[in-house]
Amino acid sequence: MPASGWPEGLRKLGLERPIDLLLHFPLRYEDESAVWPIARVASGQSVQLQVRVRSAKVVFRPRRTLLVEVEDETGRASLRYFYFKQSMADDFTEGREIRVIGEARLSLAGPEFVHPRVRSGWLSPEALATQPMLPVYPTTQGLAQATIRRQVGLALEKHLPEEWLPELSLAALGLKRLPEAIEYLHRAPALVGGVRQSIDAQGPEWNRIRVDELLAQQIALRRARRSRAKDRAPALNDAEGLADQLIKLLPFALTAAQKRSWQELRTDLTQERPAHRLIQGDVGSGKTVIAALAAAHALGSGCQVAVMAPTEILAAQLHSKFSDWMSSLGVEVVFLKGGLGVAERRRRHESVASGACRLVVGTHALIQKDVVFKNLGLAIVDEQHRFGVAQRIALREQQSAGHVAHIVGMSATPIPRSLAMTYLADLDVSVIDERPPGRKPIQTRLVSRTRRDEVLERLVHFLESEGQAYWVCPIIDEKEDAERAYAALSETEAWLRPTLGEKLQVLHGRMPAAEKAQAMARFVAGEARLLLATTVIEVGVDVPAARLMVIEQAERFGLAQLHQLRGRVGRGQGQSSCILMFEEPLSETARERLRALYETDDGFELARRDLAMRGPGELLGVRQSGEPSLRFSDLSRDQRLIEYAVDWAERHLNASGDLRSGANVSPEQVEALLNRWAYGRDRFLASV
Ligand code: ADP
Ligand code: MG
Repeated sequence: MPASGWPEGLRKLGLERPIDLLLHFPLRYEDESAVWPIARVASGQSVQLQVRVRSAKVVFRPRRTLLVEVEDETGRASLRYFYFKQSMADDFTEGREIRVIGEARLSLAGPEFVHPRVRSGWLSPEALATQPMLPVYPTTQGLAQATIRRQVGLALEKHLPEEWLPELSLAALGLKRLPEAIEYLHRAPALVGGVRQSIDAQGPEWNRIRVDELLAQQIALRRARRSRAKDRAPALNDAEGLADQLIKLLPFALTAAQKRSWQELRTDLTQERPAHRLIQGDVGSGKTVIAALAAAHALGSGCQVAVMAPTEILAAQLHSKFSDWMSSLGVEVVFLKGGLGVAERRRRHESVASGACRLVVGTHALIQKDVVFKNLGLAIVDEQHRFGVAQRIALREQQSAGHVAHIVGMSATPIPRSLAMTYLADLDVSVIDERPPGRKPIQTRLVSRTRRDEVLERLVHFLESEGQAYWVCPIIDEKEDAERAYAALSETEAWLRPTLGEKLQVLHGRMPAAEKAQAMARFVAGEARLLLATTVIEVGVDVPAARLMVIEQAERFGLAQLHQLRGRVGRGQGQSSCILMFEEPLSETARERLRALYETDDGFELARRDLAMRGPGELLGVRQSGEPSLRFSDLSRDQRLIEYAVDWAERHLNASGDLRSGANVSPEQVEALLNRWAYGRDRFLASV
């Protein structure tokens, strides 16, 4: 454990040990050795300018903004700040020489920078050449990049793990040694012959990290399987017949695919062997109702049921859905989340412990140590790909009444079935490969941002005459830069508000949980007609009346994410549409991604195309499909590494996941590996 002096902000990010920090890699590197002439700046590019201030003024439209005009010999650019002190405005004196570092957007008036960083003075070519390449880390409010950099530096000096794989394997897979790989990724590539090298996303360094992660997971999975083989779960027979009652109460008939999945799952639940099944189905295919049936079945067998969701917004929504369904069956649903008052939390925990509460829905607050069930028979994990193996294991380790619970996951992630079987090893899979009847395909349009006004017009018309809509703001990693994400959202809000007034509701990750819940509730109730949101609405949100989605700067999203977002519409009767707004110029890959979305809305097909499209080096850091329990590896991209990890585990481990004798690694090395990747601890949270 680190001594005092461990910044609180690191803890907030879930980084508690030096090794956690060492595996907390930069999102990107800022190269301050190059200067761009304004005339050559392209949209979306991260650049450094050396410019002179022409003017700085505070304007009030669309909202209080500090607008700074700058120029170099080749052209003019503007800087915009929504959050600033007057002293900052005063500092931009006319003629002052500054460096501007940030990401450009092209507007009609030339390149524009929202909240760029500014440094005083210009640098000579010699000084430029020696500028360090600075890593930029995912961070949180109040934790400065400089602090992370300093702490990483300390960890690199004292806590680099040793290489433990044989040189031969490293050579065969073309991998860098572990300590060097870690150091390289943090320190950023050095100058090579005067030319800056960027880091290859499929290079020997990243791949070494991935192999480490994959091996840790293989070992953890095998051990989990061993403990599962010994475990007993209650055989559930739904003597009260609650599942059948629920089926009769539903306002719709199950699709054939839903029926099949439910049969498979129900058969699992009647066994003493703990179920561990994944219900896989594209967005909107109707997985929730299968979860509800399983819950009813377990309740009808006298057991408690827990339903876990990755975000509070989704958990709240599941809570209200389950409450609706279960109230007809006479079951009350308890909600468990972070941030409850001490007394309230204790009260809810007690009702879970006493068995008074039979069905509890919540976030990962459900798997905290102080939550003890009287008789948990079934645990359901929605959007399970958002949770790590460690959390699934934590859930499974919940023992009560001398048994473990059956576990069912729901996910839209199209992992090829064969891969799921070999790789996930301990998982059964049911696929819902059919959508509820009457769904019209979502009409997708690609529209340039220059036509934003037309989009607004169409939106207003749509809101007046028909349904509700979502407007998703450009993806700026909220974790990386909450300030900028918020600024982008505020800007769009300021632009929409005059037209929409109270019909507009904003939702973003920085709002306190209660406000988020209230915002969502206003939208679900139909009071708000347009939900302007960041990607917090990406998973699970289900409001069938919302039939139009606008995504700003769609070119910046990954394919899987766009598909998930688009899946928020097309959930009810009637025609739904999705407008993908983009900014020119589009890169070739961005163009292809958008075209793919235009051409199909089949998640499996999109996953195939995504893989075909993603060349090496493309878009590190964009979360792709796969198991994000894998932080750095990707099931579809890294097949070669996965094969190695699976093969390694076959050769070195016995059926229970223990080292075979004669293995060329020591038990201590294996423990260090598992420890490094924090198996058994509560982490890998994709919390929003
Ligand atoms: P997902 O698979 O993405 O979790 P949901 O379970 O949220 O999808 O279902 C999407 C919508 O479809 C919900 O509004 C749900 O009530 C509805 N639905 C589910 N099954 C059917 C069905 N068989 N017929 C009609 N509507 C259905
Ligand atoms: Mg869902």
